[in-house]
Amino acid sequence: MGKIWSGFYKKNINERLEVIEQADILSEEYLSVLKNNEVLDFDMANNMVENVIGTFSLPFSVVPNFVVDDKEYVVPFVTEEPSVVAACSNAGKIVAKSGGFKTEVLDRKMVGHVALYNIADTDEAVERILQSKDLLLKTADEAYPSIVARGGGARDIEVKVLSEDGTDFVVVYLIVDTLEAMGANMLNTMLEALKVSLESLTEGVVLMAILSNYATRSLVTAKCAIPFENLGENGEYLAQRIELASKFAKADVYRAATHNKGIFNGIDSVVIASGNDWRAIEAACQSYAAKDGKYQGLSTWRCDEEAKMLIGEITSPMPVASVGGSIGINPTVKVSRGLLNNPDAKTLASILVSVGLAQNLAALKALVGDGIQKGHMKLHAKSLAILAGATNDNIELIVEELRKEKHMNLASAKKIVERCNK
Ligand code: NDP
Repeated sequence: MGKIWSGFYKKNINERLEVIEQADILSEEYLSVLKNNEVLDFDMANNMVENVIGTFSLPFSVVPNFVVDDKEYVVPFVTEEPSVVAACSNAGKIVAKSGGFKTEVLDRKMVGHVALYNIADTDEAVERILQSKDLLLKTADEAYPSIVARGGGARDIEVKVLSEDGTDFVVVYLIVDTLEAMGANMLNTMLEALKVSLESLTEGVVLMAILSNYATRSLVTAKCAIPFENLGENGEYLAQRIELASKFAKADVYRAATHNKGIFNGIDSVVIASGNDWRAIEAACQSYAAKDGKYQGLSTWRCDEEAKMLIGEITSPMPVASVGGSIGINPTVKVSRGLLNNPDAKTLASILVSVGLAQNLAALKALVGDGIQKGHMKLHAKSLAILAGATNDNIELIVEELRKEKHMNLASAKKIVERCNK
């Protein structure tokens, strides 16, 4: 697939669509969705959520030649932020040249909980719940028989007693194999079905029954090993500084927040394109970043001086789905899935975690090298030019002039647009 994508970023939209057609990765139906810029129609949108007054668009881009587990992907991105796609393409290319990303899906189950209070004897309650485990699992399965018929269903129950400010909670955790779905509605249905039995077993009161987004049973690891020379001139020095940046993001929460924001520049863009619930993914990963009692950078980079390689690794929850929610509704989501060759939930999760690691590499490489602004401001100039009134016909010229300015801002962009329009 490699060659036809070269110089993709320099092409106009029609030429890019021709490359997609040539790559033969999309069906006629999905190609036509792209060519006609078909979006979610109003009636569909109106049936999805409440108080709809229209639909809302964002740029739809791709990162080609992205290699995960020896397969090449064209990864769909939906983002409004300049330089995210370019950065991921750049880092993706470096990693592809180094053998690509290797991933491991450690598990893929979802966890939900029922919290109970007003329990006279919490130890006795825990004992009774554990003794009734089989019956409770059966009750959960009976509440959602279709997932059981597909081969999934309730797998385990764990119980904890938690205390806060004088109140004891008995918390029952239900672990479910939701197969290809993210499983929020499935879990919620199963958990609610357990309420009556749990109140009777504990002689307590249910506070709530709901899925947890702390998806510690849906962990995915992505790794890459980059020979120093693939990082360019001074590759070894750059790799050593990336290792230091990785340590810094473990030590300082101010840095960790931005380190992880960079990771989610990529992950969120692909999660949105794939039609998944990006709030759920953010909640899962941000809480996982504090799993050791301190919020830290999610990725780790280290130098293997003997092999002369920079080794990158990230482990993160990634409870995405290939079915359910709005995935089958939005036409652009169907195109995104088509570009990725309709991945199952585990493959999509592997691609996403790899995208996060690529985005992180790009950010760190810029930060410990030339600094982030050099590349960022180049692309920011385009946004400023649009805001200042540049048109398709003069935007390239205005961006070029704007880049020469000492202070690149909206005021200078407006002056250039005025000059060009005279
Ligand atoms: P759905 O309620 O859409 O359930 C998944 C659907 O996929 C089911 O109808 C199931 O069919 C179908 N399906 C088809 N093939 C498969 C397969 N191989 N494996 C599994 N399911 C299959 O979605 P979820 O339960 O996944 O819930 C996700 C939605 O819930 C998202 O929209 C999310 O935004 C929302 N949500 C999130 C919350 C949170 O994150 N805290 C809370 C509440 C809602 P069948 O029924 O026949 O089995």
